[in-house]
Amino acid sequence: MNPEDITKTTVAHRINTGTGKIQYNAMQIITAAKQYFKKNAFATLSIMADDLYPYDTWNFCYGWAEYKGGSGVFSLARYDPKFSDPDYDNADRDDLILIRACRILTHEMTHMFGIFHCIFYKCAMNGINTEEEANRSPLDLCPVCLRKLQLNIGFNVLERYTKMLNVLNGFPDVFKNDREFVAKRVDYLSKQGYSMAIQPKQQMLQYKNPIYDTKKSAKKKQMH
Ligand SMILES: [Zn+2]
Ligand SMILES: [Zn+2]
Repeated sequence: MNPEDITKTTVAHRINTGTGKIQYNAMQIITAAKQYFKKNAFATLSIMADDLYPYDTWNFCYGWAEYKGGSGVFSLARYDPKFSDPDYDNADRDDLILIRACRILTHEMTHMFGIFHCIFYKCAMNGINTEEEANRSPLDLCPVCLRKLQLNIGFNVLERYTKMLNVLNGFPDVFKNDREFVAKRVDYLSKQGYSMAIQPKQQMLQYKNPIYDTKKSAKKKQMH
């Protein structure tokens, strides 16, 4: 998909009084992005280089996503250590941007699969409001949220962890803790054979994208 120039739309923006940097209204981007939806897409996540805010009364947000509408947005701006410290010159700058971006990206995408914030365990779905919270948030889901996601979209847990491990193996130093956690899950589930036992019944549990549900219910109304 080609990048779209959001400044050419009517999305509201402002200069943040604390940072002196431009910010765009995340809620309006979520709506504006719907004109670019592909027909066969489950959801669309917009990626911004500039900072975001969800409501006029909020200082900023890392990202925002709909639980049902299939649209979300997140910004790379605050993942760069230079955002808060223009003199930051450490060699880990690129790694930090990658880690933070992956954490928020997976968080916002999981919202779009109908999962709310998690208050049970340390989890990718814990609410994130500060840089410190973003740094310590794990990349993967706790058992409660994993189960919710499985019920919503249906997948084999072992297969999912195996695919995740393949990706994380490409960045062994950057995602050291996450990689170790996922490797342990793959090892454990391979031995226990649990992944087959909790495979959902696809016909019952397949998540329905509300965009298409609306069309279906419209059809139903016509039929009756
Ligand atoms: Zn969230
Ligand atoms: Zn959780």
